[in-house]
Amino acid sequence: MAEYLQPGVIRKLDEVVVNRIAAGEIIQRPANALKELLENSLDAQSTHIQVQVKAGGLKLLQIQDNGTGIRREDLAIVCERFTTSKLTRFEDLSQIATFGFRGEALASISHVAHLSIQTKTAKEKCGYKATYADGKLQGQPKPCAGNQGTIICIEDLFYNMPQRRQALRSPAEEFQRLSEVLARYAVHNPRVGFTLRKQGDAQPALRTPVASSRSENIRIIYGAAISKELLEFSHRDEVYKFEAECLITQVNYSAKKCQMLLFINQRLVESTALRTSVDSIYATYLPRGHHPFVYMSLTLPPQNLDVNVHPTKHEVHFLYQEEIVDSIKQQVEARLLGSNATRTFYKQLRLPGAPDLDETQLADKTQRIYPKEMVRTDSTEQKLDKFLAPLVKSDSGVSSSSSQEASRLPEESFRVTAAKKSREVRLSSVLDMRKRVERQCSVQLRSTLKNLVYVGCVDERRALFQHETRLYMCNTRSFSEELFYQRMIYEFQNCSEITISPPLPLKELLILSLESEAAGWTPEDGDKAELADGAADILLKKAPIMREYFGLRISEDGMLESLPSLLHQHRPCVAHLPVYLLRLATEVDWEQETRCFETFCRETARFYAQLDWREGATAGFSRWTMEHVLFPAFKKYLLPPPRIKDQIYELTNLPTLYKVFERC
Ligand code: ADP
Ligand code: MG
Repeated sequence: MAEYLQPGVIRKLDEVVVNRIAAGEIIQRPANALKELLENSLDAQSTHIQVQVKAGGLKLLQIQDNGTGIRREDLAIVCERFTTSKLTRFEDLSQIATFGFRGEALASISHVAHLSIQTKTAKEKCGYKATYADGKLQGQPKPCAGNQGTIICIEDLFYNMPQRRQALRSPAEEFQRLSEVLARYAVHNPRVGFTLRKQGDAQPALRTPVASSRSENIRIIYGAAISKELLEFSHRDEVYKFEAECLITQVNYSAKKCQMLLFINQRLVESTALRTSVDSIYATYLPRGHHPFVYMSLTLPPQNLDVNVHPTKHEVHFLYQEEIVDSIKQQVEARLLGSNATRTFYKQLRLPGAPDLDETQLADKTQRIYPKEMVRTDSTEQKLDKFLAPLVKSDSGVSSSSSQEASRLPEESFRVTAAKKSREVRLSSVLDMRKRVERQCSVQLRSTLKNLVYVGCVDERRALFQHETRLYMCNTRSFSEELFYQRMIYEFQNCSEITISPPLPLKELLILSLESEAAGWTPEDGDKAELADGAADILLKKAPIMREYFGLRISEDGMLESLPSLLHQHRPCVAHLPVYLLRLATEVDWEQETRCFETFCRETARFYAQLDWREGATAGFSRWTMEHVLFPAFKKYLLPPPRIKDQIYELTNLPTLYKVFERC
C-alpha cells in the first residue's frame, strides 16, 4: 500500500545563516565589494583613494581614503544592517536605493569576510581601529595613530561560504574585474586620485593623479588610441529633465568589444537599452563586429529611477527610458555627423537620418500579446472614413476623402521659398519662450503623441486617434494652435516663406475684414476706410519686424507678398486672411518685445489652425491635411503643455470593450 507522503516541517532558519545568505546576494565577488567601498569613500569626500589587493581581492581587499572618517561613537553600529549616515529623513526614501544608501554594504561584508575598520576624523586626536564579525563590533575600538580618513580591510572573503569561494577560482579574473571597476570610477571622478596595487608589487597596476580630467584619465587607463579620438559633449534635455555628459570615440576608432562606461546619478550601472542603441549608431560607420568606446554620465530626477533595483543588479531601468535613450541617440548621431551646432530638443526630433518608423512598434515582437491588448499600428489600414457616409463629390468628380486627390495643393499661387540659411537665434526673449515650452511639456502626453495612430476626423474641431489600446478624441483646433505657435518660435528668424503671387493689396484685405462678421464692426467704430487706413499704417510701420523675424512680407506700397511657411504642405486658409491681418494690427502688443512675439505668434497660430471646412473639395482637403500634415506634425513636433490634457478625452479602451463583448 502506498504510503501517504508527509509534508516537510517548516522551520525558521538560523539568523546567522539568513544574514549570510542575504549578504552573499549583495556581495557576490570582490568587485561588488570594491564598488561599495569606493562609493563610500567618494561619499566621504575623499580626494585620494588607494586600493591594495591580494589574490584578486579574495585574500585581501583593502581600501584607504582621506575622507571625513567615521565618528568613534558610530563604530559600534556601522556594520549593522540598515545603518547609514546618508539618510536622515524619511522623505529621503525615494533616494535611498537610487544612490545606494541602504546601509547594507558594510554589514553584508562583515557577514562573509573578516572586516576591520581603522578611521580618524578631523576632530579626534587619534584614530580607532575596530574589527567586526556578523555585523557586530568585536570588543572595543582601539586607539591608534593615523591620518584623517578610513582604511577598510577585508580578508578571506567567503571564508564561511566554501562553495562560493570555490566558484571564484581565478584570482586573475577577479583582479581584472576589480581594476575595471576602479578604472571606471577613476574616469568618472577625475578630481580624485586613485591607486590600485597588488600587494608586494613595487608598481601600482593603475594610478590616476589628483585633479585630473576625464579624457586624461581615459588616456592613462585605456590608452592614447582611444583618448585622441574622443568627442566630448554635454546635453541637457528640458523635456525629459535629464543631463548627459559624454565622451565618445569618433568613427576612426574601433575595437572588438563595445566599452561603455555608464554612470547614472553618480553610480556605475549598466543599461542594455542604452548600450545597444548607441552601439547601433556606430554600426553604420564601423566595420562589422567593431565597436566604440563610450563614457556617459547621466543625471536623472531620482524619482524617475526604478527604486526596486537590487544593489547588485547593475542593470537599471528608468522612467521614459525609451525617450531618453532616443534623445541621447540623436545627440550621438549628430556629433558623429560632425555637427557642432547646439540643437534644441525640438530640432532633434527631425534630425536627418532619424528613422520614420517607430522602433517601439517593431520591438518586442516575440512577447505574447492577448487579443484585448492587440493594437493596430498601421495607419494605412482602414480608417474611420470608410464607415461614414460618402462625402459630397467635388466638382472634379473625385471623392474628396481620397488621399491621392487631396495631395494636390489648393492654392497654386502659393509657392514656398525655403529660408536661405539657418540663422542662430540670440534674442533672449525668444529663447525664453522656447524654454518655457520645453519646460512645460508634459512628458507623458509627449510619449502618447509620439506613438499615436490616427483614426479619423469627426468634424472640424474633433478627431479620433488611438494610443496603445485606448481610443481618444481630441480637439484638433487646440492642438493645431499649439503646434503652430511652437513652429513660430522655433522657426523664428528662419521661417521659409509662402510667396503670394500676385501680391495682395493690404488695405483692401483690411476693408474686407471689417466687412466680415468676425470683425464685429459697428457704425460707432467709425468709417471702415479710415479704420483700414489706421490698421494698414500700423502694419506698414511694423513690416520690417514681421519680415525679419517671421517671413511675413509687406512691401512699402502696401502689398502682402508672403506669409510664413510653418509646415511642409500646409497652407493657411485664405478665407481667414483678412481677419488675421486686422487682428495683427489690433491684437498684437507691438510695444514690448516678448509680448510682441508672444501675441504675434499666438495670432498667427490661430490663423494657421483654421482649416476650411466648407463642403466640397475644400473640406476633403482639410481632412487630408488633418491626416497627412497635422497629425504627423503632432506626432513629430508638438511639445504638449499640460493644459492640453483638457482637450483630449478617452472614449474607450480595448480591455473594456472586451469585457462588454465577452458577455454578449
Ligand atoms: P551606506 O553607504 O548605504 O550608508 P554602508 O554600509 O556602505 O551604507 O556604510 C555605512 C556608513 O558607514 C555610511 O553611511 C558612512 O557613514 C560610514 N562609512 C562607510 N565607509 C566610509 C568611509 N570610507 N568614510 C567615511 N564614512 C564611511
Ligand atoms: Mg555605501
